[in-house]
Amino acid sequence: MYCNGMSEKRRIAVYPGSFDPPTYGHVDIIKRSLPLFDKVIIAVLENPSKTTALFTPNERVNMLKEILTETNETKLITFKGLLVDCMSNFGANVIIRGLRFVSDFEYEMQMALMNHSLDARVETVFMVARPERTFVSSSLVKEVAKLGRDISPFVPPPVAKALKEKFAI
Ligand code: ADP
Repeated sequence: MYCNGMSEKRRIAVYPGSFDPPTYGHVDIIKRSLPLFDKVIIAVLENPSKTTALFTPNERVNMLKEILTETNETKLITFKGLLVDCMSNFGANVIIRGLRFVSDFEYEMQMALMNHSLDARVETVFMVARPERTFVSSSLVKEVAKLGRDISPFVPPPVAKALKEKFAI
């Protein structure tokens, strides 16, 4: 099979999430996805079903702005409603998701199948979490911060600062 028949189409991916708050786990997935795509759009969900969001969408975007250097290859957006509708506005057809445990898989597979059935152009790519980041989740980080312990090994400095302020540690 010849490779020179491959499409010249730009590969635009979306990495959606609550990012409440962003962790080194998220940062790792973003960094590792950049070489795979022409552009990675980090899409912050405005209306997480987790109604217990600690940070507003603006706060979450601002933290991500501080953490990531925005280049031509990255873009930060917020979205509400259906992800596939938002993706078509940007010409994106790949969803990036991170997998930590088998327990992530069931929900993620359901979402991937639903998104593909809503828009057949959309494929989901799963990236396996680095072993040292597997246990890092936004919700656990919030719990630990709330109880006054140091969360700096798990989140970038601007997030650690924001968490300290939220819980007035
Ligand atoms: P959501 O509420 O959509 O799950 P999250 O912000 O919790 O939003 O997660 C966004 C994505 O990042 C999900 O695919 C999740 O599995 C992935 N993710 C979260 N933490 C990590 C981590 N430590 N390592 C790898 N992927 C992660």
